[in-house]
Amino acid sequence: MTNPAPARLLIVGPPGAGKGTQAGRIADRYQVPAISTGDIFRANIKGKTELGQRIQAIIESGELVPDALTNEIVADRLSQADAAEGFLLDGYPRTVDQVHALDAVLAEQGAALDAVVLLEADTDAVVARLLNRALVEGRADDTEEVIRHRQEVYAAQTAPLIALFDGRGILVSVDGLGDIDEVAARISAALDLALGR
Ligand code: ADP
Repeated sequence: MTNPAPARLLIVGPPGAGKGTQAGRIADRYQVPAISTGDIFRANIKGKTELGQRIQAIIESGELVPDALTNEIVADRLSQADAAEGFLLDGYPRTVDQVHALDAVLAEQGAALDAVVLLEADTDAVVARLLNRALVEGRADDTEEVIRHRQEVYAAQTAPLIALFDGRGILVSVDGLGDIDEVAARISAALDLALGR
């Protein structure tokens, strides 16, 4: 089966919905880089960079890294050659301010987002998944208290973006519950339909 042409894509959904896993699948299929702000931040914390030291406490508390800093990092990443024809952003944008910053970066290239995948999952299911991930990966922000706080931050700051993207006619909602391959197949089918591929 041939791969569809590259596209400018995002995946959004509550923490624990499985965005990272599905982001990798989508990126492979559309032959675009998967760009995860969470991964970029964690790599900086692990590498003890100056950025990592600035953001470590914020991430471990479940708060968001300030918009200005996050926007700068993503703009820089999107200016790299591999993202010229398309990309799959995971975990960004997460606030209305970040949406506007991304719009501006893309507008400069004469481009815009093609589709936004919303991975839907209910709170109890995602909290259970994250508690389980805490045992496997030992992520510092996967304690029960911080997990609950991340869900609140998502509801307050990121959930409002769903209506915004829906208003643009680019939202593709997919049920995130089920096994990984099943969810991946649902996303592919829904995205191909939305993108007319
Ligand atoms: P999850 O989706 O499981 O919450 P992520 O890896 O996307 O995990 O994010 C982990 C943490 O990194 C967030 O709780 C936040 O502190 C920080 N972060 C990631 N992306 C952003 C962003 N776009 N804006 C601000 N903070 C972010």
